[in-house]
Amino acid sequence: MSGFPRPKIVVSKCLGFAACRYDGKMLQATIVDHLKSFVDFIDVCPESEIGLGIPRDPVIIVLNDRKRLLQPSNGLDFTDRMEGFSKSYLEELDDFDGFILKSKSPSCGVGTTKVFHDAGSKEFLHGHENGFFADAVLRDYPDLPLIDEQQLNDPVLREHFLTGVFALASFRQCSLSGKVLTLEPLIGYHARNKLLFMALDKQIMTAMGNIVANRDGLLIEVIYEKYLSYLLKILAKRAEPRSTVNAMMHAFGYFSRNLSAGEKFEFMRKLQECREDLSVIFELRQWFISCAQEFNVYYLLDQTLFNPYPPELSDGFRVV
Ligand code: SF4
Repeated sequence: MSGFPRPKIVVSKCLGFAACRYDGKMLQATIVDHLKSFVDFIDVCPESEIGLGIPRDPVIIVLNDRKRLLQPSNGLDFTDRMEGFSKSYLEELDDFDGFILKSKSPSCGVGTTKVFHDAGSKEFLHGHENGFFADAVLRDYPDLPLIDEQQLNDPVLREHFLTGVFALASFRQCSLSGKVLTLEPLIGYHARNKLLFMALDKQIMTAMGNIVANRDGLLIEVIYEKYLSYLLKILAKRAEPRSTVNAMMHAFGYFSRNLSAGEKFEFMRKLQECREDLSVIFELRQWFISCAQEFNVYYLLDQTLFNPYPPELSDGFRVV
């Protein structure tokens, strides 16, 4: 795992950090456990932070005149307290790369939480909402990588999330790499991420290249700031099969002359599969890495399109 920075990720505390759920239990989140060797977690339980206690009677989201966080057992309204906590907690956080939140929770759920018409309803309304803490996260950090523990089971969503947090951590590292901010680390960063950015959005990639070229002679702080705003935009994009295939075709040009007709045919067949099923990218990535090693194409070995995060994290694992 050397060479990869450790992203800082804000995580719902009940996902393997403390027994802080309403029922006094903790969830075993295998993927989050696995990630502990590679990332630094900042765990938080918004419900215990606002003093609800452990264990506690459950709170629910009620949607009528406005969205409220209520505790049906006693009718207490925790909306203002939760909104106040979420705002100040997020304001105080510094230098982090993404969020892993617990699904379906009235505080942490992201688009997965049941809502009720009033505190006494047994039936929930159609549609799902964000929890209150998740609402604040989405309002304050709309472009930062965000996923819940259920989505972490999906290889394509997990890939998108991990690529984002490792790319942001690596940007943070290059902006802190010397006593004085200089352009060189950013030039290297952009070069290493070029094919990944090409797969995500070629137009934004070009705009980022122009920022790094700095033809306008901007101050170094302004360059980093502008670059980061585009970086957040490009990492929020999902890789489309077509642009991913184009980026891979570009990389293929670096060693295609060394391959037999049969090997080229097999590559084209896999590429065709990738157009229909993006998860084929995992197999193609391995293939590229072995070809780049065999033909000493160091430029490709450095590319984050093929090496976006520690390879140990590519293994399949599931939340239980
Ligand atoms: S889902 Fe969020 S609020 Fe609920 S127990 Fe977990 S960390 Fe706490």
